[in-house]
Amino acid sequence: MKAGALAAKSLFRQTRDFLWPPRSLISGDRGEGAGPLRPDEFTKIRFITDPVCHRCGAPQAYDAGPEAECPACIARPPRWGRARAAFVYDDISRRPVLDLKRAGRRDGLDILAGWMLQAGAPLVEEADLIVPVPLHYTRLVMRGFNQSAWLAQAIGQASRRRVCVDGLRRTRRTPSQAGLSTRARRRNVTGAFDVRPSRRKLVEGKRVLLVDDVLTTGATLNACVRALKRAGARQIDVLVLARVVRATDVTI
Ligand SMILES: [Zn+2]
Repeated sequence: MKAGALAAKSLFRQTRDFLWPPRSLISGDRGEGAGPLRPDEFTKIRFITDPVCHRCGAPQAYDAGPEAECPACIARPPRWGRARAAFVYDDISRRPVLDLKRAGRRDGLDILAGWMLQAGAPLVEEADLIVPVPLHYTRLVMRGFNQSAWLAQAIGQASRRRVCVDGLRRTRRTPSQAGLSTRARRRNVTGAFDVRPSRRKLVEGKRVLLVDDVLTTGATLNACVRALKRAGARQIDVLVLARVVRATDVTI
């Protein structure tokens, strides 16, 4: 970018921040800070760092080696190869997640996608194609956007990876997973996804990175992985913004 354009951009940013100060991603307040997070808020977010379960990305107390899996994954292996999450979904971090999902707040998108990129760098690097978990079209029409598609696009843009926002589709409308038991969640989404016929060629033989906002029990993601495998995807990893670690982390 030329110096003049850079100066104009910087002036625009200063003016915009003066007229419309950035709103905190955590508290929702408009402050005087230069960005959407104050340092004290940043430290409250429980970012997930190593050691993690190689399979599901859950934080682990001890480092048992680079390919170690947690007891839950050993007992019931997920269908995907590897999953990673940027931070723990708890009472602090639910705000940016819900702002994105329910209010369609986009101003923190690059920051959120940046954290996901950091958490799942090797997964993104190896991916041929990024595919978001889809909404049923009736929900998409009602809401007007799919937050997971936004995250997938932001990650794709930052990593220069190909994104296919409509690779997967929901073939039937499923009730919300909130409040359901693990078994009920699984039943609820079984067979609810497939790869759009016009996208099968694109998915076949590819290493796919599946993107969603929150990983809770993994039922939805497993159902999506199954659909991608049926369409011939070679490798499927999962990258999410936040993951529930224990039920006590969130008050619903
Ligand atoms: Zn695990």
